[in-house]
Amino acid sequence: MSTAKPEPIQLFNTLTRSVEPFVPKMPGTVGLYSCGPTVYSYAHIGNMRSYIFADVLRRTLEFFGYKVNHVMNITDVGHLTDDADAGEDKLELGSKREGIDAWAVARKYTDAFFAHAALLGIKLPTVVCKATDYIPEQIAMVKALEDKGFTYLTEDGVYFDTSKFPTYADLGRLDIEGLQSGHRVDTRHKKNKTDFALWKFSKPEEHRCMEWDSPWGRGFPGWHIECSAMSMKFLGEQFDIHTGGVDHIPIHHSNEIAQSEAATGKSPFVRWWMHGEFLVIDDSSKMSKSSGHVLTAQALADAGYYPLAFRLLALQCHYRKQLKFSYESLAGAQRGYERLSHLTQRAVSEAGGMGHRATVLGAAAQGHLRAFHAALAQDLGTPQAVAELYSLLEDPAVTPAERISLVDTMDQVLGLDLFTPIPVPEVNAIPAELTTLLAERNKARAEKDWARADQLRREIDERGFEICDSPQGTTLKKRL
Ligand SMILES: [Zn+2]
Repeated sequence: MSTAKPEPIQLFNTLTRSVEPFVPKMPGTVGLYSCGPTVYSYAHIGNMRSYIFADVLRRTLEFFGYKVNHVMNITDVGHLTDDADAGEDKLELGSKREGIDAWAVARKYTDAFFAHAALLGIKLPTVVCKATDYIPEQIAMVKALEDKGFTYLTEDGVYFDTSKFPTYADLGRLDIEGLQSGHRVDTRHKKNKTDFALWKFSKPEEHRCMEWDSPWGRGFPGWHIECSAMSMKFLGEQFDIHTGGVDHIPIHHSNEIAQSEAATGKSPFVRWWMHGEFLVIDDSSKMSKSSGHVLTAQALADAGYYPLAFRLLALQCHYRKQLKFSYESLAGAQRGYERLSHLTQRAVSEAGGMGHRATVLGAAAQGHLRAFHAALAQDLGTPQAVAELYSLLEDPAVTPAERISLVDTMDQVLGLDLFTPIPVPEVNAIPAELTTLLAERNKARAEKDWARADQLRREIDERGFEICDSPQGTTLKKRL
């Protein structure tokens, strides 16, 4: 919170597909809404990349002098396994999988989400709201849409008629005619391919944990309505910025705009739509929970990586570019993070302690700070901002006292917690019991007891380690 008058910033707007000077509705204040996690399973690092992006956006706006009201929802009901209103409710699915009720599933994974977010230096939003806490607001919005003639009833629920909202295709630049009916499946209940459920009826055979009475019958809200109802509750009928992943553009966010603007009669619902790109693993496929690849921030920590090294990796790739994740790139970020930490600690000790930071900056230090601001002001240029941090820490023209001062300032946005000394990491630390198992397995092999050797290999595998046989001998490696 540096100056009274906020600094100008340019941000990419998905509505116009261009970088534009950002102008909030109320000078100096920003209403920011982020689509939050569906808490039926752990959020993987691909999901977390999206929240790092929203966090950096919020921190940058605050750094530039705006007051930010950051609202994030928790989807704890209504998100179906298929975006086209078919399939099972993910929370009910989690309940069957884990043998606990859907409320317990939601609590477990909400707690895990915030624990992982904290590991990654993500600030808690100003408001966190759970869909199940705002059912009356969602019913009221569906009712308003019904009164205005935007809905129709089927045996499955209440649906939004997108043919009555002529600008439906605008955000996603959708070719409605060309949409494959196979992509938005299950048109049984729908008049148009792009119509979506606002309220779904419980089926008697489902035995749902989560269901509510409504004017149309017992059931639960569709996934999309919660974001409109809760964002309006906390930020008003029209607000400044809405974030999410690029996968939200064609369906979830198109639906949010349609139902919000239809309900209020006001346009635009949101002035800036901002979307983070995917994290992709080697084979260029999107990381998803269904691929069996649930790599979490906690898993990185357990394998000896600093979660903040992953944050650094994310910052070094612009949010609108795909982040190609590999263990090599993570190891590179780990080394980079160690270097930043080391250089910061050196500056602190050379300056004679944290209390000795510079209050006035010389020309060289000022130059670095200006470049840092300029990078962020251009649609959150975090790769250049990070480069500026490295550069000043290695610039002999910047004194240790100035370095401390600049790291302190820049870390308000980067969130790398650089003043906390890092412990020596133990990548691939092998627990003693596993060393014993490995020795037993090698003995079994030497005795040609293949069944026993196989059994021991499986036990090692179940504990998350793999055996590497090489001419130098046998070693264990922690699997990620
Ligand atoms: Zn949403």
